[in-house]
Amino acid sequence: MKPSTAHPSAHIEHWDVVIAGAGPGGLACARALTEQHPGRRVLLLEAGRTYDRHPCPVDKGFACTGCAGICNVVSGFGGSMHYGDGAKLSLLPSGRRLIDHFGATTAQNLCSTAYAWLTEPLATAPELLGQNLTDRAIDAFDANALAIREYPVAVLGESDLGRVIKDFHNRLATAVTVRHTTELAAAEPNGTGLLLTVRSGRTLQRLSADHLVLATGRRGVTSTTALLHSLGVTTDLPDISLGVRFEMAAPLLAPIGEEHPDLKITQTDGARKVKTFCFCGGPNGGRL
Ligand SMILES: Cc1cc2nc3c(=O)[nH]c(=O)nc-3n(C[C@H](O)[C@H](O)[C@H](O)COP(=O)(O)OP(=O)(O)OC[C@H]3O[C@@H](n4cnc5c(N)ncnc54)[C@H](O)[C@@H]3O)c2cc1C
Repeated sequence: MKPSTAHPSAHIEHWDVVIAGAGPGGLACARALTEQHPGRRVLLLEAGRTYDRHPCPVDKGFACTGCAGICNVVSGFGGSMHYGDGAKLSLLPSGRRLIDHFGATTAQNLCSTAYAWLTEPLATAPELLGQNLTDRAIDAFDANALAIREYPVAVLGESDLGRVIKDFHNRLATAVTVRHTTELAAAEPNGTGLLLTVRSGRTLQRLSADHLVLATGRRGVTSTTALLHSLGVTTDLPDISLGVRFEMAAPLLAPIGEEHPDLKITQTDGARKVKTFCFCGGPNGGRL
């Protein structure tokens, strides 16, 4: 069956800014916009379901059912909202990419703002862990030419993370229109702005916008790149970061979690960094 399109003569909604993607990037962008430019008409589109509807049959031991084309693992606040290990928030830009792209000062400022926004809805400020590694642990890894990184991390459980996301949405409720299970399907230049095609189920709708923000995360990597190219925007190849996940039983990870909730171990070959290993070893470590 072909998707239906709104009647051609139907009134086309106009928005000052349309943001595609309501993960942490899109929500933070919406918040910054409404604080810095109150009164702008902002539409936030999210392909996934609402944040409180993220079940996954695989978690309960059942087979993947496809969830009607909307995977709850990769849509809606990325994977961190889905899995039971909650989220770890670092006070420092932990990856080198943020620093490479923005410079150390801006990267640190962005990280501090994100940390503040993600922790202020909590009743008590979370404890910062991972700053007092024992000599025993440092020496044990050092014996194998592996270096442990000491950096502060806060651990948010599932309910705290849910509270944070709910708070984000509540703050935006009066200033931003949010549409879930609605995705940006296409965009084309339209005078000084853009004409957008938005899909919700089988229905296509046309919108116009002065500005478009693409905050589509990993679910949107391919389609976003294709869309940018169709608009004549050149893009740099992303820095590829290959992650391999080894799973081990929680009792084995527990001692590592006592040292650091998100331990990063770097293997070096002289001055050259060869690999970084991450161990999520907190109380829920190894649960997957
Ligand atoms: C298992 C797992 C655990 C993680 N744990 C942590 C952690 O502990 N700490 C941490 O800091 N990070 C963690 N991360 C990484 C974190 O989830 C991502 O860095 C973060 O979600 C990226 O934010 P984002 O807004 O860029 O993208 P996303 O969170 O991926 O959000 C993008 C959103 O855009 C939507 N979208 C995509 N295409 C469209 C479209 N065309 N139209 C409308 N909407 C669209 C998607 O549905 C999605 O909701 C984890 C990731 C995974 C997978």
